[in-house]
Amino acid sequence: MLIFILAILSCLTSIHSRCIIQIEKGKKMEKEEFMKEALKEAQKAYDKLEIPVGAIIVKDEKIIARAHNQKETKFDTTKHAEILAIQKASKKLKSWRLIDCEMYVTLEPCSMCAGAIINSRIKKVFIGTTDNKTGAVGSVLNLFDDYTFNHKVEFETGILKDECENILKRFFKDLRKIKKVGG
Ligand SMILES: [Zn+2]
Repeated sequence: MLIFILAILSCLTSIHSRCIIQIEKGKKMEKEEFMKEALKEAQKAYDKLEIPVGAIIVKDEKIIARAHNQKETKFDTTKHAEILAIQKASKKLKSWRLIDCEMYVTLEPCSMCAGAIINSRIKKVFIGTTDNKTGAVGSVLNLFDDYTFNHKVEFETGILKDECENILKRFFKDLRKIKKVGG
């Protein structure tokens, strides 16, 4: 009898845990979770000794493009994470108009990327940390707010700010060490 009760209990527990998994699968991804995906891209750049910046583009709650900075690897100053993500998303949607798309980027976009974001009609940009030297979304200037273009991009700054800042700090610390060893 006891074995029978235990069997029923274990069966119920398994159904319950399956339900929880299903609920979790169906739930909306939070902006922090999307930023974590952009951070994974930043780590890929880090591993290639590139300044660790990552970006993803989301449409209808799905990630349609992932990219990381590849300026050094490709010997090309335009290979910023945001530009590469825009190119991939455009290819996927077979359109340069990224209407209703959102971008998550670990570092505030520069003027080149902010311009490309406006031109691609991206709806909203979620930014990790700010860039006081070249940031064009509030730090040095604000291309999204201070100027009138034919498309207005919404933005939100400070999503997983510490993580996005720390990966950059860690990278520059490592780089200084490498330079010291190299003389
Ligand atoms: Zn840029």
